[in-house]
Amino acid sequence: MEKTYLMIKPDGVQRGLIGRIVARLEDKGFKLVAAKLIRVTEEQAKRHYAEHEGKDFFPELVAFITSGPVFAMVWEGDDVVALSRMLIGKTKVGEALPGTIRGDFASHTPLNLIHGSDSPESAQREIANFFAPDELTEYNKDIAIWT
Ligand code: GDP
Ligand code: MG
Repeated sequence: MEKTYLMIKPDGVQRGLIGRIVARLEDKGFKLVAAKLIRVTEEQAKRHYAEHEGKDFFPELVAFITSGPVFAMVWEGDDVVALSRMLIGKTKVGEALPGTIRGDFASHTPLNLIHGSDSPESAQREIANFFAPDELTEYNKDIAIWT
């Protein structure tokens, strides 16, 4: 089953949106397999955002993601990487459509509330950056026998 790494960023935690964001992911039918409230270290932040290293906003991005607690999660589902990015919405708040998490709750770029892996390969790398293998739970939902 495909996995993705989703992370409610410091702005989402500060604004008290953990519950409402998690509810949307549960509503969609994805399966939560790991979650924890953590403080991202500078090393983790730089690894997580390595693709943006060298860009002018990189130092600000690392400073922001390490500025306060984040809610780190692993979710499972068919095509969960692409489908969760659809629920999350576009990066820039001006492009994030209403109905998406960013479209409904974010009003200032780059404070866009939540991170989602952009490919299954990124997801594997990002999950390993934040979770030990034994932190991922395995369980079945009875409904899954019909899917
Ligand atoms: P995402 O995958 O939709 O989160 O977007 P990206 O991978 O392109 O960028 C990662 C994160 O960096 C975004 O979610 C923003 O928080 C931040 N970011 C992206 N572009 C910019 C920018 O031009 N300026 C600033 N300050 N932050 C940015
Ligand atoms: Mg990205």
